[in-house]
Amino acid sequence: MLVVKKFGGTSVANKERIFNVAHRIEAAYKNGDDVVVVLSAMGKMTDVLIDQAKDINPNPSKRELDMLLVTGEQTSVALMSMALSFLGIPAVSLNAFQVAMHTTSNYGNARLKRIDSERIRHELDQRKVVVITGFQGVNKYDDFTTLGRGGSDTTAVALAAALHADACEIYTDVDGVYTADPRFVQNARKMKEITYDEMLELASLGAGVLHNRSVEMAKKYNVQLVVRSSLNNEEGTVVKERVKVERMLVSGVAADKNVTRVSVIGLHNTPGVAFRLFDMLAKANINVDMILQSTGRDDKKDISFTITEDATADVMKLLEDNAGRLDYEKLDYNDHVSKVSVVGAGMRSNPGVAAKMFECMYNSNININMISTSEIRVTVLIDEKDTEKALNAAHDAFGLEE
Ligand code: ASP
Ligand code: MG
Repeated sequence: MLVVKKFGGTSVANKERIFNVAHRIEAAYKNGDDVVVVLSAMGKMTDVLIDQAKDINPNPSKRELDMLLVTGEQTSVALMSMALSFLGIPAVSLNAFQVAMHTTSNYGNARLKRIDSERIRHELDQRKVVVITGFQGVNKYDDFTTLGRGGSDTTAVALAAALHADACEIYTDVDGVYTADPRFVQNARKMKEITYDEMLELASLGAGVLHNRSVEMAKKYNVQLVVRSSLNNEEGTVVKERVKVERMLVSGVAADKNVTRVSVIGLHNTPGVAFRLFDMLAKANINVDMILQSTGRDDKKDISFTITEDATADVMKLLEDNAGRLDYEKLDYNDHVSKVSVVGAGMRSNPGVAAKMFECMYNSNININMISTSEIRVTVLIDEKDTEKALNAAHDAFGLEE
């Protein structure tokens, strides 16, 4: 059996953790499995490197930043391979160049396009454990690229798909996927299994367990994932297309504080206005999430939308620079807001989830600023200070507790 095992930064944060992981790999290897390991940078290394770069130059070129960041993963794979050799397990570390993991050309947020598997196959045939850098790739200019923060999950899934692996295990510092973040919701429960669609909603909503794109890719190539802890032998959570158990209406709740609400007030109420605004944002590569349009006085309209908080300065500048073209009365933003969502495949066939969500916000005296829904999700935008209250209220109202 061929397994891809991915270990996150906390799982390889120091010598002791590295050997802990090495022992797990040893067990699989001795079991006769072909083992491909994908690693993140040690601990907070990526943050340290980013700080270092910004200390030298507050606006480093994206190419050079990627050149720097890939060293984090390169360090961890080399050390892991050494640890395995120390345990008597033949191993080889490879970076994105050596494998040849081809990506799009955009630095900092590249997408994997194709993975050459010959080198990996060759090493596996020699009965070696192959330890591969997560998070990085190579573009058509033969430069290193990175896949966006948390991107090692995506590397693992892409490798599992390319190698037709029998299993893809994502090891992290939590036991699996929970019905809510256990740091904020005390009676959160670990899920046995969850669908790709639910996981996608939860990942993008800030559940933080898996990189969004890794789930997209797992769904596309039908790679079954297991999310489990590197520190114990608990079973973890299986992420797959369909789940067996009788489903509850809602399977999880999630919050995302990395949100800013922007309002463009007093736009003309004529065709093309929304198009001009959002086309401009799209061309600037700004991801817009919730959108609300309302008609105001004097045949004017207001448009509010949410973006990630780190894009606030860019977006406000863009809107100010284009004041003439957009022709609005004023701008306004609030970054003290958060999104709280309930997610569940069971919603598809059950009305009333939205109403129940609003009712429970009302019962907790939480004001809702904006609403958005998908087939399997209801999201409310609320004051950031109410985030934990809202999470707990929804978790209780939908009966998710242990
Ligand atoms: N080391 C990278 C990061 O911190 C990638 C990853 O951990 O998945 O974002
Ligand atoms: Mg991660």
